[in-house]
Amino acid sequence: MEYQIRCECGHVMAVPESAAGTSARCGCGRTLVVPSLRELRRRAGLSEPPLSPALEVEALLYAGRLPEEDHCVLCGAVTDHCIYCRTECERAYVTDSKMPFLVRLFGGFLSGITFGWYVFLGDEREPTVCGQDRVYALPLRVCNECAQALSPDILCDALSRVPLYERLLKKYPHAILSLLGN
Ligand SMILES: [Zn+2]
Ligand SMILES: [Zn+2]
Repeated sequence: MEYQIRCECGHVMAVPESAAGTSARCGCGRTLVVPSLRELRRRAGLSEPPLSPALEVEALLYAGRLPEEDHCVLCGAVTDHCIYCRTECERAYVTDSKMPFLVRLFGGFLSGITFGWYVFLGDEREPTVCGQDRVYALPLRVCNECAQALSPDILCDALSRVPLYERLLKKYPHAILSLLGN
């Protein structure tokens, strides 16, 4: 998307998103500072890009502001009781970039001794860590009575009654949920 910035000479220039924070030269010779993307979006009347639900959850958890409700999400009764739901959204995983042994051996047969040994002994790169652990203990406002009756299969439904958690579960539909107790 392009944004418009106006030079002192009155000329309006269109700049791409990627130009945010840099400078641009107008036909009149003046150098214009292109504002940050946030500022460009604000001037264009666009809202700020929404924060990812995972980051929002992390920030609120860190600030001790969860749960936000003061009533049981299941029956609506006012309560200060809450349960914790372990929510495993994703796990960091390790990719091993080493070539499998058989591929190397096969490469050796195919390409003759010299290249073969090169493939066989080929450089062994370090394994790379991808993604990151996103595992949360989400506090959920559930009254004592409802907590007694809560079974793991309605945990997802109970969490989804909190809009923030619902967004999180939409983003990570394969999240693994389990009850951590009170
Ligand atoms: Zn100009
Ligand atoms: Zn309840």
